[in-house]
Amino acid sequence: MQGEQRSIEVSGRSITFHLKRADRRTLSITVEPDRRVVVTAPKEADVDLVDKRVRRRAQWIRRQQKHFESLPPPMPPRRWISGETHRYLGRQYRLKVTSAPETSVRLAGRFFDVVVPDGSDAQAVSAAMNAWYATHARAILRDRLLRMLQGSAWLRLPVPQLTVRRMRLRWGSTTAGLRVCLNVELVKMPLGCVDYVIAHELAHLKVQNHGAPFWRLLGRLYPEWERWRDRLDQQEVDSL
Ligand SMILES: [Zn+2]
Repeated sequence: MQGEQRSIEVSGRSITFHLKRADRRTLSITVEPDRRVVVTAPKEADVDLVDKRVRRRAQWIRRQQKHFESLPPPMPPRRWISGETHRYLGRQYRLKVTSAPETSVRLAGRFFDVVVPDGSDAQAVSAAMNAWYATHARAILRDRLLRMLQGSAWLRLPVPQLTVRRMRLRWGSTTAGLRVCLNVELVKMPLGCVDYVIAHELAHLKVQNHGAPFWRLLGRLYPEWERWRDRLDQQEVDSL
């Protein structure tokens, strides 16, 4: 995309936006489903004026970004080499890649011990790690979901069918009030963030929109949700 990346500070938090110039007389601000903010301004518009307009729309921008509940823009791609940091349940571990015929991944102390036939083969390392993440995500996300349902049996929520898969833009989704889909990437986040997303999707089983009854139900399911949602908003996400 052509244009310029700008960042402004509004009440202690920064808003980054992509500024495009166009042959037009008015300025438009849009929030993409992946939370990116795109500002299209007249060719001759002063940047100070652009910043001012974005600042004025700050609240609206944040509301839009929340509305999409989407993942932040991804981090630069990983190199999958020894020494690189990778996460699991909010903790950082260092990759230790070695070469041997049998592929394996093991969490040992502060390390991810990865064995692949050719340690310099980044694709093999990433495939082994992603398979490991997927296995652990399935077990942990299912366990947390069942725990939350048990802990709130009095709410009589239906037991949904759970799918865990890679999603590029969202942490979770719900369909038809009986299916919950969670992003495999959640397993890299702190457990509190995992529980927030699960509670959020469970609440959607009963209330599909984000009206007051939804937030009330979410509060009963997971009283600390707000803190963990903010924490989740600050997490970096790997590019998929
Ligand atoms: Zn929602």
